[in-house]
Amino acid sequence: MNAIHPIQQSASYTSTSDVQPARLHPVCVASGDGIGPEVMAAALKVLDAARAPLDITELPLGTRAWQQGITSGISPVSWKTLNRDRVLLKGPMSTPQGGGMKSLNVTLRKSLGLFANVRPVRAYTPYIPSHHPGMDVVIIRENEEDLYAGIEHRQTEDVVQCLKLVSRQGCERVIRYAFEYVRTRGRRRLTCMTKDNIMKLTDGLFHEVFDCIAEEYPDVESDHQIIDIGTARAATSPEEFDVIVTPNLYGDVLSDVMAEVSGSVGMAPSANIGSEAAVFEAIHGTAPDIAGKDIANPSGLILASAKMLAHLGEGETAELIHNAWLRTIEDGVHTADIRQTIAHSRCVGTDEFAGAVIGRLGETPRRLEPNHYPRSPILIPAVKPAQPVEKKLVGVDVFVQSRLTPDALAEQLRKAVGEMPPLTMITNRGVQVWPDGQAQTLCTDHWRCRFKGFANSQLTAGSIIDILLKLSSNGIEFVKTENLYDFDGQPGYSMGQGQ
Ligand code: NAD
Repeated sequence: MNAIHPIQQSASYTSTSDVQPARLHPVCVASGDGIGPEVMAAALKVLDAARAPLDITELPLGTRAWQQGITSGISPVSWKTLNRDRVLLKGPMSTPQGGGMKSLNVTLRKSLGLFANVRPVRAYTPYIPSHHPGMDVVIIRENEEDLYAGIEHRQTEDVVQCLKLVSRQGCERVIRYAFEYVRTRGRRRLTCMTKDNIMKLTDGLFHEVFDCIAEEYPDVESDHQIIDIGTARAATSPEEFDVIVTPNLYGDVLSDVMAEVSGSVGMAPSANIGSEAAVFEAIHGTAPDIAGKDIANPSGLILASAKMLAHLGEGETAELIHNAWLRTIEDGVHTADIRQTIAHSRCVGTDEFAGAVIGRLGETPRRLEPNHYPRSPILIPAVKPAQPVEKKLVGVDVFVQSRLTPDALAEQLRKAVGEMPPLTMITNRGVQVWPDGQAQTLCTDHWRCRFKGFANSQLTAGSIIDILLKLSSNGIEFVKTENLYDFDGQPGYSMGQGQ
């Protein structure tokens, strides 16, 4: 049932209007864990006082679902409601350790197709101390792919792996969105950050798609930086950056770094955007160290609520809340995570902070620039159809478990498989150890054995199965295979380090 959330109207603040709006927007709310219920209560109070036209359904997500034995963290009933309302205001959620539980945050982002995670971070000096008064950066993070696909396996006694999956469509969607964001939100420059000097295929694809799409946006200044030096520069000279687009893991780390540099991780909001649905949250986590103490900063979630209202077409109410929040900051009211700067500043608890924002609804900041939410949504660009390519199977990497030395393993493999197809390389942890391998490298029980180069005959799936049968019948344990393909004559696989 979709019910109006029973928010208690406290006597300590007044609503800005007694007129009920004609239309209520159905939205779901999930409080989350740790400080989640405290910051959510604060945000809901502010929304209620601002007469945000919302029809709220509370969903028991995460821990509350796990406690009922729902391993996904979200029940079928909650899914139904969420798929109906398509907008969620979410508190931070923890993932139970062990038991194979998946992160509900990642599940929601992927299941709802929330491909872009938009995280604006700015400084509010002198009211919130920051070494970088001019910083005003938006991090747009790819939200569904990369190592966060969460596909992990233990393959041998020594070795576990996590697959880093990157698709052309996934890159294109978020990168196009980022260019549209810059163009329509009065920004000027888009910086792409990857580690494509090392991960030439995965991060290389992200960078390549970025360069391609940049040509369609000549009015937007664009550049690329390697993520490690890029993060270092962003932490020391954030005012040099405008909008950053980056793969999932880097964006997660970078946005926390930048939020902390701006004053506190507790202040930044986050919008997870898809073509059908959107989830709004703070960027911080459950902060178990301060949970239940009424000292958490609710700003991230209050600003996320304002973003949600803007997304719903309620830009005016979004501005009402955002500007009251700016005025609160300007008046020196802050939570304990913010260092005191101005003379008359006052440290308050979570609930009192919400009350301070409510008390300023209808006011605008005097020195900080009032916030304006654009009334037009950012169009979700369509992804162009993939170009046909010629794909040719040219070999196979067979990963085997063994405690032999590289030379002994090579001999065993060649004895089992014969001379055709030829064994061309063995690597351990990516480093070539046969032929002519690096003797110093630490070798585990996990070997990549490359069979490649078939004389006068086309390699088929049958030839790969034949190799595996031969290995198996000779007592060699293979733990996985990766087919080696050329695409339009270009290798779609990496070489061994040192090869
Ligand atoms: P965290 O953000 O919870 O805490 C990091 C530090 O920042 C802590 O010292 C904390 O006290 C402080 N902090 C965070 N939010 C604050 C706030 N609003 N006000 C004042 N101080 C604040 O990060 P963590 O400790 O790495 O993660 C804790 C848990 O949260 C983990 O289980 C993690 O998986 C989860 N998490 C969830 C989300 C999400 O739901 N979107 C995001 C990040 C982390």
